[in-house]
Amino acid sequence: MNEKDKTKIENAVTDIIEAIGDDPKRASIQETPARVATAYSEIFSETGNAHFTDYKIFDVDENADMVVVQDIPFYSMCEHHLLPFFGTVNVAYVPQDGKIIGLSKIPRLVNFVARRPSVQENITVMINDELQRILKPKGVAVSISARHLCMEMRGINKSGLSTYTTKFSGVFKEDHELKNEFLQQTRQK
Ligand code: ZN
Repeated sequence: MNEKDKTKIENAVTDIIEAIGDDPKRASIQETPARVATAYSEIFSETGNAHFTDYKIFDVDENADMVVVQDIPFYSMCEHHLLPFFGTVNVAYVPQDGKIIGLSKIPRLVNFVARRPSVQENITVMINDELQRILKPKGVAVSISARHLCMEMRGINKSGLSTYTTKFSGVFKEDHELKNEFLQQTRQK
């Protein structure tokens, strides 16, 4: 994020602090607009980036039946309220033609889709689409369980509720046994 955009955020946060009835000059929050700008530049760093590019594909001799990476933590901001939603992601794929992706790249892909204003449904679909695009596997399964602070802090005020989303493509759509294996394997404790 460039300096001009950081200044924009700082000015907006100063306005918000004023508008909610606090004093931006109060000693302990004087630095808050600058801190929010720095935090936002990280939290929203992938905004507008459509495609994940930070990966490496490896060739192996034999296809694994299924590769599962589970309980990947993620943090995102809902696009409706700019409040956090966060939880864990499970990702599985069935390799094709011995093509696999470095395992550490899957959490990076999760960060890539999460660091923008979004909703849980879009994040679920985007992880699936991007993995399908870069790896061309036989199928991808993604499930996400998340808590939404816009739901918990406002309105109905129920804390601890989880929202669960899934996206299946390729063989995970056709093969119910495989899909169930994924769901069993990643079942929330
Ligand atoms: Zn929201």
